[in-house]
Amino acid sequence: MAGDPKLIQKRVIEKYCKDFPAEYLDVVHQCDLATLTWAPLVFRYPWDVISGNLCKGGVVVAGDAMHPMTPDLGQGGCAALEDAVVLGRHIGEIFLKNQRIVPQDVGVALGRFVSERRWRTAGLITGSYLSGWAQQTGNNWWMKFLRDIIFYKFLYPKIFDSIRYNCGKLPYASPSQNNSDNPNKMD
Ligand SMILES: Cc1cc2nc3c(=O)[nH]c(=O)nc-3n(C[C@H](O)[C@H](O)[C@H](O)COP(=O)(O)OP(=O)(O)OC[C@H]3O[C@@H](n4cnc5c(N)ncnc54)[C@H](O)[C@@H]3O)c2cc1C
Repeated sequence: MAGDPKLIQKRVIEKYCKDFPAEYLDVVHQCDLATLTWAPLVFRYPWDVISGNLCKGGVVVAGDAMHPMTPDLGQGGCAALEDAVVLGRHIGEIFLKNQRIVPQDVGVALGRFVSERRWRTAGLITGSYLSGWAQQTGNNWWMKFLRDIIFYKFLYPKIFDSIRYNCGKLPYASPSQNNSDNPNKMD
């Protein structure tokens, strides 16, 4: 089904979302089939992100490939953007150090990127999971107490606050450091 947008549309309308509001079904009905894809939601355990092998030589995973998480904090895409800035910073630093990209140093930069991102993204995965769990688990009195008093009063503000994150400053080469002989140099 994943490779057949017409079939995806048909199944969504007739089976998976048949009880959804008419407005939703209308959107699906009118969607541009060329943009319709089907992919499973995936999740990586935080301890696998903390201890897993996330880079090798000049290859690294980032974004969803590194830290797929549940959608409850809406931070998957934001974390991918953070990755881009942090990765850019580490690559930029080795670039500035050597005034060019030295292949042996790329692995070092990727290793630093992974070390910096492991705990941050493991925290987001955990916070997102807990947030979804609290919202979706049971409605008996102790679950209500756990959710409404313990979780929303004490834990959620801390989890939510974690979305404010400073990725650091990108390195900058001043124009005076430019070398016109080197077309790869930053300006
Ligand atoms: C319904 C939904 C709602 C979401 N809401 C939010 C939100 O509110 N806030 C938020 O921060 N995040 C949200 N996310 C999560 C966010 O969309 C993802 O975390 C983000 O898109 C991950 O970016 P990425 O670049 O790592 O991966 P992707 O966006 O998945 O990009 C990977 C790209 O690689 C391409 N690709 C795959 N295999 C190959 C291959 N072999 N060769 C070449 N290309 C390939 C794919 O086609 C794709 O274009 C949401 C996700 C979903 C599904």
